[in-house]
Amino acid sequence: MKKYTHAWLALKAIELLKSYEGRFNDDRNKHLKRFLKFISPHPNTFVRGAWFPDTVIKDNTQGGHTWKYYLDSNGKAEKRRPPAHNNCLAFVKGSLGRKVSLDTKISDLPDRCEALGQMIRDSILITNKTKSGDVVVFNNSQVALFFLMLSHYVCDAHVPVHCDNRDLYKPSKVHPDLEDFWEKEIKKFYKVSLRTQQFDLDEEGTMQHKTGKKGYDKSILHELDKVLAQKAWQNMGMLKNHWSVFLGKGNNNFWDYLVSVCLVSFHMSQLMFPPGAADVNYNTVRIMETEPFKSDVIKYSTFILADAINSVALLWLAAWERWELLSKGVR
Ligand SMILES: [Zn+2]
Repeated sequence: MKKYTHAWLALKAIELLKSYEGRFNDDRNKHLKRFLKFISPHPNTFVRGAWFPDTVIKDNTQGGHTWKYYLDSNGKAEKRRPPAHNNCLAFVKGSLGRKVSLDTKISDLPDRCEALGQMIRDSILITNKTKSGDVVVFNNSQVALFFLMLSHYVCDAHVPVHCDNRDLYKPSKVHPDLEDFWEKEIKKFYKVSLRTQQFDLDEEGTMQHKTGKKGYDKSILHELDKVLAQKAWQNMGMLKNHWSVFLGKGNNNFWDYLVSVCLVSFHMSQLMFPPGAADVNYNTVRIMETEPFKSDVIKYSTFILADAINSVALLWLAAWERWELLSKGVR
């Protein structure tokens, strides 16, 4: 996933959370309000911050950004499932029980997310405990950076080809073509300055559409807003006040949740780019110029990106609640 796609998804996650204000139980509404107050003053860091894992840390080739499955009759069925609001779940439901194995050399993504979730919790607790001026204190923009880094890895989990062990990156162009398509759509329809690396935001922090651009009404981004509005999170009105309540049944932490997302992503990759497809050479095919790939990418991208936004919003809120609850003794 490319630079402005990452930042755009993170900014959309904030917009989604704002639209959810007041819809949870009292405690969670307060958590959310405090989180939005914390993160909102940092929008100009979104592009660079969300991109640091690719430009500075560069653990993408070592598996930090991937969790790669392959079908394996000697493997085992992964039992974890994402919550019902995951839109891609319905497309691959019939395949989720198939036996899979993991390419352990290049599969760290859920570990990265779990670690960052705990890091956010710890750094806020330390910041709150330590008087300002102490050398060991974190400041708010450092903590905001951790949230943006978390959003990067979370979004990568939703990229189907990040979870498929087939090499669709080189010499294949499937992976770059897919990510190029998303990046171009975002730059086409949203106001963004490549010079200052910032999206144009209004007073409320909402991203601005470019004026006079034809085709938006039929674009994947327009469809995506409809998809997000249709399905709220499962358990939203629930009184149980623990951050794991939105992660899906049986998923107890960020790691479990990301594994369940990556399993769906793997099967999305198999659905969009079927391994046994006759007359297709994945080393040479250009998916945005070839059917049925082009239609499939357009059809599924809306749901993939909507799911990524939901995940970032959900895990940001959970990461925030994690420290607020731990400070009261709840793990
Ligand atoms: Zn990445």
